[in-house]
Amino acid sequence: MQPLDVLKQYFGYSSFRPGQKEVIATLMEHRDCLAIMPTGAGKSLCFQIPGLLMSGLTLVISPLISLMKDQVDALLAQHIPAVFINSQCTLEESRQRFSEIRSGRVRLVYISPERLQNEFFTSFMQSMPIDMVVIDEAHCVSQWGHDFRPGYCAIRPWIEALPRRPVVAAFTATATQKVKEDMMTLLGLKDERVFIGGFDRPNLYFRVVRDVDRDSFVLSYLARNKGDSGIIYAATRKEVDRLYKEIKARGYAVGRYHAGMTDGARKKVQEQFTFDKIPVIVATNAFGMGIDKSNVRYVIHYQMPKNIESYYQEAGRAGRDGAPGECILLYNRRDIMIQKFLIENSVHSPEQQAKELRMLNAMVEYCETRHCLRRYILQYFGEKPSWDRCENCGNCDQEVVKEDTTQIVRSICVCIDEVKGRFGMTMVCDILKGSMTARIRHYGFQRCTSFGMLSNYTAREIRDMVRQSLEDGFVQQSEGQYPVLSLTADGRDVLKGRKRAIQEIAVAAEKEPAARPVRKKKAVSESIDEEACRPLFEVLRSVRMDLAKKEHIPPFVIFSDATLWEMAASRPVSEEAMARIKGVGEFKLHKYGWIFCQAVQNFQTTQE
Ligand code: ADP
Repeated sequence: MQPLDVLKQYFGYSSFRPGQKEVIATLMEHRDCLAIMPTGAGKSLCFQIPGLLMSGLTLVISPLISLMKDQVDALLAQHIPAVFINSQCTLEESRQRFSEIRSGRVRLVYISPERLQNEFFTSFMQSMPIDMVVIDEAHCVSQWGHDFRPGYCAIRPWIEALPRRPVVAAFTATATQKVKEDMMTLLGLKDERVFIGGFDRPNLYFRVVRDVDRDSFVLSYLARNKGDSGIIYAATRKEVDRLYKEIKARGYAVGRYHAGMTDGARKKVQEQFTFDKIPVIVATNAFGMGIDKSNVRYVIHYQMPKNIESYYQEAGRAGRDGAPGECILLYNRRDIMIQKFLIENSVHSPEQQAKELRMLNAMVEYCETRHCLRRYILQYFGEKPSWDRCENCGNCDQEVVKEDTTQIVRSICVCIDEVKGRFGMTMVCDILKGSMTARIRHYGFQRCTSFGMLSNYTAREIRDMVRQSLEDGFVQQSEGQYPVLSLTADGRDVLKGRKRAIQEIAVAAEKEPAARPVRKKKAVSESIDEEACRPLFEVLRSVRMDLAKKEHIPPFVIFSDATLWEMAASRPVSEEAMARIKGVGEFKLHKYGWIFCQAVQNFQTTQE
């Protein structure tokens, strides 16, 4: 059997996503690999398929016990023999699982890194034909990462003590250089191939909403997206508690999650969310790696996070099933001060502090750019998109016109020239606005020619214009903790009247986005008419819910939202038609196919 056949038969997908085929081929050649792919890119298939095809056993080391059950349930639902062994198994369960492994029936065994320190487990495994060791969330081995787990340091010596060295595959979404080096050395990868990619998530719609009343935005968003599953990230526990109460008071089924709650309470909320019992969760970033729910339709950041890595990881929890997801960041410049304060007070080494401030700067740039948001993210992660605009993000959707803005750019350049490139954004904007701040008085800048030159504009408009001049290359900003502005060659030309500035200006800047009708969501797929298909989709969703309850598994383990949408559009009533739906593998076809066919048929009868 070839990997593509496994993909079709077991998982019901017809083609690989970017990067998957290459990783699988590498592992099948018994060559180590390190794959850095974002959340939702489809890392699991990259090792599950080789795991099925290899003759020996695959050991999957995963940091979260709470996830293992879901992962194994999802595999079993696809008829892939897998087990997990962890501290939550009873003695009897463990005994049973060891005997299944010994019989050779099991292909994948999920464990936590701490299990490697168990003597019985180690000697048992030394007698088994282990073909592959998979290390999920491999960044946990690095102290430079954000989830360091000492248990990960035991992996390398454990593998080296095996009688025959298996192929080693490490997976993560964290791409920083230090962490990457640590993963390669501390996990003992040999002659490995490194894959970085698949960062684009075409089904996600990114949007930055600036300076709105955040509570009203969230509430009106919830009202428009009732029933959809979503996560709202807030920066502090206090904020989570407050927002949770606000939302709950309006009658929504909502949960909250943060590190200040008991383990039991957190576990319960997570389970209710996974099982679609409560659609909305308000959480701090503690609600993290443990979420493997594929049908999250939106992720709203109530505040700006501290860097793009964290943002993309959290936002990436939307739309893992490939159906559309929306990632909205509610931005206010005050967030910058808060993040700076946190960095300055929690990070002690000056080197690390400077690095984090640089990362924060990139986050701010993302929030303030007028250019394509997707392109910004991809470039940040080192990809080089061949296009300028994705036409599917908040910025690309904004109408722009070309305007001659020479006068404005010239004023900005005059100001930067006058302060001799020694000051940053805030000072330059204050001078242009003509604000009598203490700092301006201190330096005597009220006597500059540029003082008050743009006083007809609001402070925010001035900042946008300076920001745009930066993006368009008239002005440049230095690196470091206190970035200062200076003129580029083009900026000098505008200053001297040798060049005109033609800039793209957004028409109707979003003054009150919460009050405006929400943008029309990208269709579930180009060919699916969402409105027409919704009634049947809802019927299928409730059929799925009933089955999930009966089997005690999360609904998305049965079929993803994307699969249900496709059923709702093509209305399969025969086994052959059902088999053509993406996400319906052979086993699920036999187990659930007829139930959904029947639901479609009943629906059609009631419509006639
Ligand atoms: P990651 O571990 O990278 O965050 P997952 O492995 O959980 O992502 O995959 C995310 C979702 O994408 C899952 O629902 C999975 O079934 C789906 N998926 C993975 N590969 C494919 C593919 N080739 N075609 C369609 N869907 C896929």
